[in-house]
Amino acid sequence: MPLRMSSLFLRTLREDPVDAELPSHRLLVRGGYIRRAAPGIYSWLPLGYRVLRNVERIVREEMDAMGAQEVHFPALLPREPYEASNRWTDYGPSIFRLKDRKGADYLLGPTHEEMFTLLVKDLYSSYKDLPLSLYQIQTKYRDEPRPRAGLLRGREFVMKDSYSFDVTDEAFLQSYEAHRNAYIKIFDRLGLDYVIVKAMSGAMGGSASEEFLANAVNGEDTYVRCSGCDYAANVEAVRVAVPPELPYDDVPAAHVEDTPDTPTIQTLVDHLNDAFPRDDRKWAAHDTLKNVVVMVVHPDGTREPLAVGVPGDRDVDMKRLQAQLEPADAEPFTDTDFAAHPTLVRGYIGPGVLGAKNPSRIRYLVDPRVVEGTRWVTGADVDGSHVIDLVAGRDFRADGTIEAADVREGDSCPVDGAALVLARGIEMGHIFQLGKRFAEALGLQVLDENGRLVTVTMGSYGVGVSRAVAALVESSHDAAGIIWPREVSPADVHLVATGKEPEVYETAERLTAELETAGLTVLLDDRRKVSPGVKFTDAELIGVPTIVVVGKGLADGLVEIRDRATAGRDDVPVGSAADQLTRLLRQDPSPPSS
Ligand code: ATP
Ligand code: MG
Repeated sequence: MPLRMSSLFLRTLREDPVDAELPSHRLLVRGGYIRRAAPGIYSWLPLGYRVLRNVERIVREEMDAMGAQEVHFPALLPREPYEASNRWTDYGPSIFRLKDRKGADYLLGPTHEEMFTLLVKDLYSSYKDLPLSLYQIQTKYRDEPRPRAGLLRGREFVMKDSYSFDVTDEAFLQSYEAHRNAYIKIFDRLGLDYVIVKAMSGAMGGSASEEFLANAVNGEDTYVRCSGCDYAANVEAVRVAVPPELPYDDVPAAHVEDTPDTPTIQTLVDHLNDAFPRDDRKWAAHDTLKNVVVMVVHPDGTREPLAVGVPGDRDVDMKRLQAQLEPADAEPFTDTDFAAHPTLVRGYIGPGVLGAKNPSRIRYLVDPRVVEGTRWVTGADVDGSHVIDLVAGRDFRADGTIEAADVREGDSCPVDGAALVLARGIEMGHIFQLGKRFAEALGLQVLDENGRLVTVTMGSYGVGVSRAVAALVESSHDAAGIIWPREVSPADVHLVATGKEPEVYETAERLTAELETAGLTVLLDDRRKVSPGVKFTDAELIGVPTIVVVGKGLADGLVEIRDRATAGRDDVPVGSAADQLTRLLRQDPSPPSS
């Protein structure tokens, strides 16, 4: 049955919704695909639900093809498994929690590692049962701090999540590779322009992970790729290129100098060049070591100050810092915090008071570029003075390193040293090498070939299914509306009948029936009292990639085939239109790539 615009549950809007900033959000609401129910929570209307199911179909076909088996878990889950993995606490305010009538704790699943682990533990016990990959396409709940951009960052959203179970690490790597390849097929079929980048594992723990990012100017993720090799990483996961250690036998002893009124790096550098000019070159911001103190808030609420030392020409990137500290959070150090730590002299904080071994016991982590032998100007912990020629390894030692300095275009690649390029993307998928974290926490063991109990090695793999709907619109739209890739379009053909003559509508009905017989889905604009202008505007907004117009040309026996993406138009005899369309859409089942 065609979708008839005369009765379709659809109201397109001419005005942008006030809360919508991104094209995908605007166009999906205006095109009658989704409606907001609450912040970050959306209802799917008929056209939107068709697109969503098309994305699901692609995901399902590729997961089935790689041998994963589909299951379906509840979204309403008991607390205990999440307690056992520590994620009841680690997720902090990001999970929706609720109580049943008896007062027992429940949550709405943000992701399902625990439940899958327990299910497999429940039923399997031998190496002979593995490898195993299970998946589901299911609604997830996360109380995101900043729900944003419609479907892109929802508080309720649809995710495909899968989990692999293996006896050995080698076998696991095969499961991981199989998932990675399935993801490549999925995102190729969706027609997204994407990159695979190294990523952080966040609350998931585990050893390594990769993200599939759709290139998008409006993406929330920033990633780097190397101009020389294939290194690519989410900015949060970038490892800086560590310089070699330097000899420091010739470096004079560190000396404290008066540097009045130099609380910022720029004022300090200017003062150094005035009062302590160098022979070889001018002092620069990168000669200084900037120590930034933050308050780390652990999931259980405990607070702990942390000092981060970065070269003075860089800032601490809070997103990078937070990614390193997860599941803990980092907050700015407040006036009250400074008052409680009088050894910290704001603007003049130095390694003299930092580190577990110093009286303040404030943990001190430095940028990996602060290697042994590097020479710094930094705070002397006294108002208006700095210490010069302070050598790392000789004069101070941090408690460790941390990747928290901002990453810039042109920074060196950690693999081959070539310049890094920055770009933005939307995270579409994420694949994790979980290792044994969940299997250990929940006791998932099987007997190996020698009859010994071994802990199972797991992987976890997610695709943002509802997010994909929005990401596709971000990557494929114009001023007039959406341009769907064929594979996910709500219909194959949008057939627009224009005019008053009954013949137009009869022909449109006949052509629709022919197309449907040939296996194509048709969105038929059979509205009688609507002007052609409104119909065309709607067709462009809705974004079915092939539009067929039955109207004026019919007097000459012609209908018009329009390509939504290229705006190309072609008049064809009405008698051969169905054949031509079928051939056109069959020969090019793949979506037009952007
Ligand atoms: P993000 O960094 O964007 O918050 P995440 O790393 O927390 O995502 P994962 O736990 O890796 O997300 O979830 C797997 C996939 O689910 C993500 O790659 C993304 O496509 C999708 N996803 C995650 N959070 C949301 C959300 N709030 N709304 C829509 N899709 C989401
Ligand atoms: Mg992720």
